[in-house]
Amino acid sequence: MKLASIRRHDAKVSGIIFKPMEWRLRREMVAIAKRIDERRLVAASDGNISVRIGLGQQRTGRILITPSGVALGSLRPQDIVMIDCDGRELCGDLNKSSEFRLHLMVYEERSDVRAVIHAHPPIANAFTFAGVPLDPCIVPEVVATLGRIPTTDYGTPATDEGATVARELIAEHDAIMLQRHGSVTVGETLTSAYHKLEKLEHTAEVLLAAHQLGGPKRLSGTEIQKLAKLREDLGIGAADDVLRACRTNRH
Ligand SMILES: [Zn+2]
Repeated sequence: MKLASIRRHDAKVSGIIFKPMEWRLRREMVAIAKRIDERRLVAASDGNISVRIGLGQQRTGRILITPSGVALGSLRPQDIVMIDCDGRELCGDLNKSSEFRLHLMVYEERSDVRAVIHAHPPIANAFTFAGVPLDPCIVPEVVATLGRIPTTDYGTPATDEGATVARELIAEHDAIMLQRHGSVTVGETLTSAYHKLEKLEHTAEVLLAAHQLGGPKRLSGTEIQKLAKLREDLGIGAADDVLRACRTNRH
């Protein structure tokens, strides 16, 4: 491309020209990737991040996704791969994340979601390895915001099966655990998806400490009802799911 055709705010890196909006998203993904790495919510080259761009329609949008084999802490904006809604690589020298099926499934299922983060938060993961649920009826702000953090059945990571087992739960929840694997958090923005990941792991840390101190005590039914109503009143999500989970002890 001739230099004259590069707009003033375009970014040209390694011979590739990026539009300002796309470059901003790539930089934002790198910033979030570093925070995930610094908080040790992944190890080595685990974990992946994606953002939906373009028109946002399920079959026409494009997706920026982190590459396979690159540690999130070492990620550069130009490393990020652009794919279409069928997973075809449109731009980028590296291979797309092996978990791209999981990300595509979320965007298929949730038209409201524009960012997906898959991480391996160690304490929350330990709960799934031990078969102990992240009980939704203990931490007030979790009841009011995330509602509950359910765990999927086991599915082999990086396969269609691994994505399929999460489909039903991610349709209704913004933060879930994949059994024996890791977390999936989603949001209208990357920051929102990241904050849910932080909250998920922090909840697991608190619950672990409470288990070590003799076991967490549940909120009363009345208090859970008030928090579930607050959740509904604030437009965050339905109250029924939390109430049902706490009433039946299902997680
Ligand atoms: Zn994983």
